[in-house]
Amino acid sequence: MPTKEEHLMAWLRDAHAMEKQAETMLSAMAGRIENYPEVKTKIETHLAETTRQADMLQSCIERRGGDTSTMKDLMGKFMAMGQGMSGAFVDDEIVKGSMASYTFEHMEIAAYKVLVATAEACGDAETSAVCQRILQEEEAMAKWLAENLPGVTDKYLARSEMPDTTAKH
Ligand code: MG
Ligand code: FE
Repeated sequence: MPTKEEHLMAWLRDAHAMEKQAETMLSAMAGRIENYPEVKTKIETHLAETTRQADMLQSCIERRGGDTSTMKDLMGKFMAMGQGMSGAFVDDEIVKGSMASYTFEHMEIAAYKVLVATAEACGDAETSAVCQRILQEEEAMAKWLAENLPGVTDKYLARSEMPDTTAKH
């Protein structure tokens, strides 16, 4: 059976892979949004946060004696979810992308709640503090998406009915 320290390392690496995948998804989405500037700005802000989150996780991993050289192997784990956002864009991509972001944020929230509890169990106050900070950022992003999904949907539906609208995203 793995020790709790081994679980903490494995889950920190999973979280790092998750953030690298988030970087890819968020930058793809931000780059494609044309008509929803408030969404684009929020995605770009969260992209910057996400990059910092990945760096902070890497520091936790290294401080605990792990290395990030095997990160590549773990990247595949979150690929499937990313494809929902980065591939096969259709005209309702602003809605589908927002839904995917909302889902992804909640996966992150779950991951960091587990990491905080595990770091506490291991007596690693610094890793716990890092994961609590990241958790707050994910919760803030999830809250923003929850509050803005209806408005984005309304705007998309209104634009869909305009005959001369080509770019709907
Ligand atoms: Mg994140
Ligand atoms: Fe996030």
